[in-house]
Amino acid sequence: MSTRSLSTVVWIDVAAQALIEEETLKRSRVETGGALFGYTTDHDVVIACAYGPGPRARHRRTTFEPHPATTQSLIDAIWTESEARYRYVGSWHSHPGGIPRPSGTDVKTTEAVATEPHVGLAQPVVLIQSTRRHEDRVELADARAWRWSRHDVWLLPCELVAVELEERYCPLVEVPGGRLRGSEVLSPRVGG
Ligand SMILES: [Zn+2]
Repeated sequence: MSTRSLSTVVWIDVAAQALIEEETLKRSRVETGGALFGYTTDHDVVIACAYGPGPRARHRRTTFEPHPATTQSLIDAIWTESEARYRYVGSWHSHPGGIPRPSGTDVKTTEAVATEPHVGLAQPVVLIQSTRRHEDRVELADARAWRWSRHDVWLLPCELVAVELEERYCPLVEVPGGRLRGSEVLSPRVGG
């Protein structure tokens, strides 16, 4: 067993996992991603909700840039509407045709989140969904979860386990440019 393991288990609700898989396949030529919400226990992280990128994120072949104001809208709305049961626990993104291991950019981006005081998230989770080409189509490959270690100043691998939560609260959230229900973008509310 590796001594560089955090002994963290990341539990992910099956609906959140399905959202990540569907969104990844929908944009199979570029990276995509989104925010993850749930809660933490002593050692473990429970992901209850995954969101898609929203309308303003930037997708490229080997990078994904979430739209910061979209992430902030989700953080605020989910905290309030879940009555503080769910908080921001990290993010997910895809590695098309790659391996589910953090790139140098992923490490730098996560360190920036971990040290950003107003985010209040010292040990962000990063979930990476990879894909591979099979004949003429793209299919899902491994997904892995990583968690920031302040001690190691690096992302360490976690065990990722799918689970069916008894309840989950993943509301429709107003974000810049529309409303986000999972990975589905609805048009902005008229006349708000
Ligand atoms: Zn990456």
